[in-house]
Amino acid sequence: MAEIRMEGLVKTYPGGTERATDDVSLDVADGEFVVLLGPSGCGKTTLLRMLAGLEFPDAGKITIGGEDVTYRAPQDRNLSMVFQSYAVFPHRTVRANIGFGLAMRKVPAAQIAQKVAWAAELLQLTPYLDRYPAKLSGGQRQRVAVARAIVMDADVLLMDEPLSNLDALLRLSFRAELKKIVQDLGTTTVYVTHDQGEALSLGDRVAVMRTGRIVQLGDPLEVYDRPADTFVGGFLGSPPMNFLPATVHDGQLSVAGHARPAPAHLQGHSGDLVVGVRAEHIGISGINDTDGTNGIEARVDVVEPTGSAVLLTTSVGAGPGPAVLKVSAPPTFRARPGDTVRLDLAPDALRYYDAETQLALE
Ligand code: ATP
Repeated sequence: MAEIRMEGLVKTYPGGTERATDDVSLDVADGEFVVLLGPSGCGKTTLLRMLAGLEFPDAGKITIGGEDVTYRAPQDRNLSMVFQSYAVFPHRTVRANIGFGLAMRKVPAAQIAQKVAWAAELLQLTPYLDRYPAKLSGGQRQRVAVARAIVMDADVLLMDEPLSNLDALLRLSFRAELKKIVQDLGTTTVYVTHDQGEALSLGDRVAVMRTGRIVQLGDPLEVYDRPADTFVGGFLGSPPMNFLPATVHDGQLSVAGHARPAPAHLQGHSGDLVVGVRAEHIGISGINDTDGTNGIEARVDVVEPTGSAVLLTTSVGAGPGPAVLKVSAPPTFRARPGDTVRLDLAPDALRYYDAETQLALE
């Protein structure tokens, strides 16, 4: 069993004033794939490096499979790593690169050959085994790095932005392959990325980090659909969640100049709040239908066809600060900049946040 337990991990770099990780606790189950997601500088690499033994925490504890490894050297943790830079040796063949870690461990040659053949097959590298990295594409080099990690039969696989050097198309295809390989191996995996799409697609669970802390931990659907605060809602999703100022008074919710009964859990609430809604949950109809009475009138500012949908940037309300709402309409929806449309904010698609703390009001 290779479950990972992180408890109260605090790390401040020498000379640093802020904590790179600030009391982080996280359990990863045996065989689970957890993604650490967050903006640059939020501490995800630091957390991964502490797991790897490349940094030691100032406080807290790390156990892997029940053993305290907090201050153990990397080679004594039975884990393997894949980093952002391909980190393949340019003067060794693909075969030698993949077998490198095993050779260092003095594994018998026949066994290394068998393992290398297995990993090369899995990562579609068999035809390239005798090539040097300079004669490989970026994607193939990245596969070599992954192959080199998986031959080690480690209890834990750590990956730090392993796809970030690949172009968009390759990233997408290799992402799916990587998911399949790790699923089949069943290795406990911790994966760092700042790419929310990657996090949602790969993780059994996603830990969203901000300024050294985990702000939400959940399965991808949960963090996407029920962000714990407006930061998470704004960080996940493309486009990010829309946010609108709103008020509740006497059981009535007023949002974008439209009043409706407040949901049951906000009946006792009074004052300002923030309403969040995803672009794909906003109904849209009635181009230039000025007689319409359903929903909220909005003006179309930008129209962006994406192929599978049309993304509209709309503004609601007049005055110095109209609210901007991104709406995902069916690909056949023909609106042009300057048109008016009517938007329908379905009650069950709305999420509510405290205006001050920005935390979800559940
Ligand atoms: P990125 O996506 O940019 O790699 P990250 O989320 O992985 O960011 P970390 O690299 O863990 O973030 O950095 C967390 C904080 O610690 C940042 O404020 C960063 O400036 C600081 N930091 C990271 N490494 C060092 C270091 N070696 N010395 C001093 N400060 C560091």
